[in-house]
Amino acid sequence: MVPRIMHGSIETSGWTVTLLEVTTMEMDPSPIAPPGALGDLITLPLNLVLLCGHGRTLLVDGGFGLFTHIIPGVVEDLDASLAAAGVSRGEIDTVVLSHGDFDHIGGLVAGDWPDALVPGFPGARVACPARTADHYRDRDPDEEGNIATRILATVRAAGLLDELPSGAEVAPGVRLTLAEGHAPGHSVVEVGDYVHGVDVLHHAEHVPHPEWDSGFDQDPPVGLATRHEWIARLAADGRRVSFAHLTGFGRVERDGALHRWAPLA
Ligand SMILES: [Zn+2]
Repeated sequence: MVPRIMHGSIETSGWTVTLLEVTTMEMDPSPIAPPGALGDLITLPLNLVLLCGHGRTLLVDGGFGLFTHIIPGVVEDLDASLAAAGVSRGEIDTVVLSHGDFDHIGGLVAGDWPDALVPGFPGARVACPARTADHYRDRDPDEEGNIATRILATVRAAGLLDELPSGAEVAPGVRLTLAEGHAPGHSVVEVGDYVHGVDVLHHAEHVPHPEWDSGFDQDPPVGLATRHEWIARLAADGRRVSFAHLTGFGRVERDGALHRWAPLA
């Protein structure tokens, strides 16, 4: 597929923020909506976020990398997506990891799985929520669904892993903030009047219906509480927002007793 840069870029606090839609996934919506509410098949994008400013180049999450085969039909070419935004892989000084799911962490390594791995962004530091690093450090690397233990060990062995507490500043004005429930240590990225909400929710219809979105959360009650908290916060403060699996930038607005997703024009 042709890489897309969604809705150009936005500017905030000296940063140019570009949403890179690196691939799309077709899936059955039943884990995240009542029967029939979203039809039989939905297409979810995967967005990474490029942050350029202050002499720095940051990428939020690494995409599927070696693991596109996990979801049928997924095709990803991160170098082409970066080139479409005018950046090469070697220019990225920091990869900010939101959590350890395969579509976010897979691209942090290259080489041969599982025994000959090297960092996927040579020389780039990886800013990782400490809670994510702690969760995966001593787990069985062969446990089903766990690719993160080997990947974080590879980055750590290269001396490139920074394990950060919630609220830590990754670069000037860029903060990694815990928003738990979806996955261990799942964190959002806050920059000026913009937030990348990653996997706090997974569809525009989850803004009015946060309770639909339980099937992708490892801890559904905590995920739901986090979703309510962030929807209310974003509606109140009016910050611009993106999510890993929604198309484009938008805002969360009040809509009577509920809220709605308002795409940025
Ligand atoms: Zn995700």
